[in-house]
Amino acid sequence: MKRVRPVVAIDGPVGAGKSTVARELARALGFTYVNTGAMYRAVAVALSEAGVKSDSAGVEKKVESVLQSAHVGFDGERITLNGRDISNIISNPEVSDLASRFSALGPVRARMRELQRAAGEKGGVVMEGRDIGTAVFPDAEFKFYLDAQVEVRAERRWAELRAKGVAADRGEVLRQLVERDRRDSARELAPLRRADDAIVIDTTGLSIAEVVERLKSRVQSRSAV
Ligand code: C5P
Repeated sequence: MKRVRPVVAIDGPVGAGKSTVARELARALGFTYVNTGAMYRAVAVALSEAGVKSDSAGVEKKVESVLQSAHVGFDGERITLNGRDISNIISNPEVSDLASRFSALGPVRARMRELQRAAGEKGGVVMEGRDIGTAVFPDAEFKFYLDAQVEVRAERRWAELRAKGVAADRGEVLRQLVERDRRDSARELAPLRRADDAIVIDTTGLSIAEVVERLKSRVQSRSAV
């Protein structure tokens, strides 16, 4: 089906600026913003509350059964699990780690991809994550891959945690970030990688406003939005 409005896919590693940029860009374009990382985080909360361990024997079967009764709702910044607002707990570093472990599993990715495709099928959406331009919407009209120097990304992640009231050690944030990127890039299913046709933007020395402006002018110059 031809979409009337485009899908804008934004992928990249931790701390590249994806969430803030995607949210602001969606607002500027009048599009819906979808944070797919928050969805993986919600599933991780559901699985961990159900006592599932990502490295246990027969984990895929257990995951399938928990997913059958787990309803993940998302609406911009708000994320719910079976109707319970869990927006406040999903940024915790433990949830980041769990999300990255569970996201390597086939049933989790299949379910998320289905939900994400349904959310974006009509277009008019800015969706950010790790595999949006490669696996969820390989036919997205616009694909961007944001990256930045690792120290800068760790500093941003640390500041983000602080702003949310989560106390964290800078060195530990850097270590966890490197480990999560490694795991996300090395997994077999839909690993983090730049789509061949994605535009790469190094956000190291750029402000959020500058990055948003670059993406916005690209989208507006090539479509009727
Ligand atoms: O973007 P965020 O850091 O919130 O994502 C949390 C984790 O969810 C990532 O480290 C990654 O393992 C997983 N994820 C994914 N695919 C996406 C979005 C997030 O595998 N599209």
